[in-house]
Amino acid sequence: MKEIRFENVWKSYGKTEVVKGLNFTIKEGERLILLGPSGCGKSTTLRMIAGLEEITSGELYMNDRVVNDVPSGKRDVAMVFQNYALYPHMNVVDNITYGLRVQKVPRSETRNRLDAALKMLKLEGYENRLPKDLSGGQRQRVALARAVVKKSNYFLLDEPLSNLDAQLRVSARKELVKIHELYRQTIVYVTHDQIEAMTVGERIALMNEGKLQMLDTPENVYHRP
Ligand code: ADP
Ligand code: ADP
Repeated sequence: MKEIRFENVWKSYGKTEVVKGLNFTIKEGERLILLGPSGCGKSTTLRMIAGLEEITSGELYMNDRVVNDVPSGKRDVAMVFQNYALYPHMNVVDNITYGLRVQKVPRSETRNRLDAALKMLKLEGYENRLPKDLSGGQRQRVALARAVVKKSNYFLLDEPLSNLDAQLRVSARKELVKIHELYRQTIVYVTHDQIEAMTVGERIALMNEGKLQMLDTPENVYHRP
């Protein structure tokens, strides 16, 4: 199962505990939102799944296997960052396909995945542009395309829409849900925005001060009597 399971996971920076005993399961193929106020440990939790932060104690399982010591490059994850983290000197095509070149995916397969991603994310015609010559919405779509072409089973997003204006955010949410309905990866999506959580999430994990407070559907999180 391409699920993610936290068993008593703690994370400290020095003496400061920022994640305090997480116990929960993210189901295979679901869109799970990590929601909570700034500083509550959402990014740290996501980065532990990505393999970008070490786990201080406890066990993190992915696909029924403890991955605490598995490096990021071997975790079958694709990540989209808040600032997109595009390579400024690479054009759109090179940004999108960079990871596939590193993985030595054959050229024809790379071409197919690239063409599909350019089409789906409406980036045709922008292939040779550098990031600085794209709008915010286009940069965000390049970052999504770069993650999509990896065809990873785990799709991790850290406030991916927070740099967009309100109108673009609405269309980007729809794009994301559409991508997920095609591929059904396991999605973990960090946000502090309640509206975003309710429109993108199938379930919401509510965090506060390093702990999980509630894990339920948007309806049950927000419409409890
Ligand atoms: P969120 O994503 O919910 O805003 P983070 O996971 O980014 O929260 O951060 C949780 C806490 O951990 C914050 O108090 C933050 O200041 C602290 N923190 C994050 N990264 C580091 C680090 N590298 N060193 C020390 N403290 C950190
Ligand atoms: P969006 O509505 O997607 O945010 P903008 O209104 O920012 O787009 O830009 C409108 C058009 O101008 C887009 O097609 C974009 O490709 C183009 N564009 C934006 N910034 C630049 C730039 N620095 N150089 C060339 N073209 C640009």
